Amino acid sequence: MPGLDEEVKWVRGVGPRVAELLAQKNIRTAEDLLYHLPFRYEDRQNPRSLDELKVGEMASVIGEVRGFSLLKTRKAPIFELTVGQGRLAMKCMWFHGGYLEDKFHAGQTVAVFGKVEPSRTTSSFKMINPQFEILPDASEDAETRMLEVGRITPVYESLGGARLASRWQRKVIFHLLEGLRGAIPECLPRTMLDRLALPDRETALCQVHFPPEGTPMDALQAWATPPHRRLIFEELFFLELGLELKRRRMRERSGISFATTDKVREAIREVLPFHPTKAQKRTLGEIVSDMRGPSPMRRLLQGDVGSGKTIVALQAMLVAMENGYQAALMAPTEILATQHFLAARKLLEKSSRKYRIVLLTGSLDEERKRTSRGLINRGEAHLVIGTHALIEEKVEFDRLGLVVVDEQHRFGVLQRFKLMKKPRPDGTEMAEPDVLVMTATPIPRTLALSLYGDLDVSVLDELPPGRTPILTRRVPDERAGDVWDFVRKQVKQGRQAYVVYPVIEGSKDDRPELDFSNDTPAPPAEPTPKTVRKGKTAALFPKLVKEANPSAKAGLKSAIEMHEKLRTGPLAGLRLGLLHGRLDPDDKEVTMRRFQRGEIDVLVATTVIEVGVDVPNATVMIVEHAERFGLAQLHQLRGRVGRGAAKSYCILMTGERVSEQAEERLSAMVRTQDGFELAELDLQMRGPGEFFGTRQAGLPDFRVANLIRDRQVLELAKHEAARFVADPGPDVSDAERTRLRERLKIAWQRRYGLVEAG
Ligand code: ADP
Ligand code: MG
Repeated sequence: MPGLDEEVKWVRGVGPRVAELLAQKNIRTAEDLLYHLPFRYEDRQNPRSLDELKVGEMASVIGEVRGFSLLKTRKAPIFELTVGQGRLAMKCMWFHGGYLEDKFHAGQTVAVFGKVEPSRTTSSFKMINPQFEILPDASEDAETRMLEVGRITPVYESLGGARLASRWQRKVIFHLLEGLRGAIPECLPRTMLDRLALPDRETALCQVHFPPEGTPMDALQAWATPPHRRLIFEELFFLELGLELKRRRMRERSGISFATTDKVREAIREVLPFHPTKAQKRTLGEIVSDMRGPSPMRRLLQGDVGSGKTIVALQAMLVAMENGYQAALMAPTEILATQHFLAARKLLEKSSRKYRIVLLTGSLDEERKRTSRGLINRGEAHLVIGTHALIEEKVEFDRLGLVVVDEQHRFGVLQRFKLMKKPRPDGTEMAEPDVLVMTATPIPRTLALSLYGDLDVSVLDELPPGRTPILTRRVPDERAGDVWDFVRKQVKQGRQAYVVYPVIEGSKDDRPELDFSNDTPAPPAEPTPKTVRKGKTAALFPKLVKEANPSAKAGLKSAIEMHEKLRTGPLAGLRLGLLHGRLDPDDKEVTMRRFQRGEIDVLVATTVIEVGVDVPNATVMIVEHAERFGLAQLHQLRGRVGRGAAKSYCILMTGERVSEQAEERLSAMVRTQDGFELAELDLQMRGPGEFFGTRQAGLPDFRVANLIRDRQVLELAKHEAARFVADPGPDVSDAERTRLRERLKIAWQRRYGLVEAG
């Protein structure tokens, strides 16, 4: 008898050639095929009659092809199809429908699914660009007809061209399910299913593909039926179970138990420049409690821009240093590393202890790098601040106790920190360092808890006192004059401003600014809104113009050009600085320092200043071409101001045509300053893949679950996984446990490919 892990080529109706196509879609086994669920359903139980349709609803209609024609219009050819039912008829139209001409012939039965629109020419209705399917006619076998009409019909995304579209899948899956009847093993414990009122696996699979008569259509379309929920839960449960087990294993490893004596507390008190907020106290408490514990800390510190993460991390590092260990801080860019270095040095100057702080970035000259490496190796450097270079430059720490890493570095990096241990003369191993990961991206809490399930999470959910809200405005380019006047006024009052551009240099190089000190992929570039004038050429050859349109970006303002223009024009007389990723590192450092010391009034920059730059006296953030930036980016940029007590402003200027999505982002920025709210929205607009930057986030590759849609199931799965690990309960049989374990292994190996967090 065939089983679920049968290679897909043996499945009836597949064969080796099709199997190759399926492999491209990651479908290799019978099971994979079964977990390729319909993306929607059509109610063909009682097909709708044309006289009962209502304008505005989504409906599926089955009728007979009466006639069709291709209308050549100036814009696009329109394919028109008349679908009849008895004396009634309805028109369906497809724009750019030339490809449909030879699909239909009169007398065929078709099912169309789409939005019902009023028709101006007849008293009937029409549908524009409906989904359609040509149904089997009476000459086809009864089975085919049974699968296509008179039921709730599943509609699938094609697995490879027209041949492997819905109709093919219905047949193959139908037979597969028949063949597997009674042979699909349950992988979740019976008691859990009963408690959660979820159907068993076989029932769930049968019913998501072929829903029983009368299943509510809206629940089906939303993947909210019990069989759907069961499959989603199954997938998320194994994700969470794996994460839970990882955390448990981490708790069993042995790390350093740091002590927090009065001496340590005193060392912190000496340097702390202000009263920590309640949230800072709480999160530091959580961190320190981990550090005191015997197992290595793996904690995520999450906090919105400006919430004061740095000082929390610094206190943790002081704990490590006072215990005689080295601490390392890894920043995502050189500018940031430098800034942290300068800030830490300034802060620790006040201390009566003589801490030695060392900077290590890729662009330092060999001499200085060598010196730094030596200090680190001999344990003379207490605090090491750097970029990715910390890993790349083969640094060997003498006694590394705590690593603070920026989120962008998390994946793959932590493993390598283990290699940075200096070999001991006596051959013993240094204990594993504690790790604190910081993220400036507010991640909706459920997601953070689930995706970073192998980390403990601390949330800084309070801004330091004395902040006034930032006033955010959208301003069209035409009013640039007012904007520059405003900047002048602010500068006159002793304030400073940032002006940010999407590119470094105009048409010569309009790649978006890339982070220059590591290999993190840049945030996804905006789909470039086209500013093609509706001239003759464009109308005649829309495609041509789209593809070869060098002028589309010509209007893009760049940091270098605008620095020059502003300096000699609207901002003449003010002290301007220029900062971007292609500058020499020394120049960057000098510029940054001068801006920090107030010797530069206006910093013209690219997104290199996006993360972490901290100059409290800067009160104006101007973003040109704001429509080109992502929501997270805009939020981070805005976070550069409003860091002191003075009133701050964020001005979002838009030049080009603004796409609908960009419009949504900009109005969200104006509406709210809450990073979590914006993150939530960003997540919804872009989907988790892009939100986290797919690859680097090591996001699991789900078959049925969707992290946005299925958030509640995710929480349930998390809860159940924790419960199961703590105590599976007496009613779970050994056989069930074994199956569960096997399933877990497969799920983690094959599907999620989650990167080890170390
Ligand atoms: P984040 O890294 O979370 O974006 P920072 O650590 O850079 O935020 O802190 C933002 C600003 O707030 C800095 O200027 C910092 O000195 C200041 N700050 C942090 N905590 C406090 C506090 N408890 N009271 C006053 N100012 C604070
Ligand atoms: Mg510890």
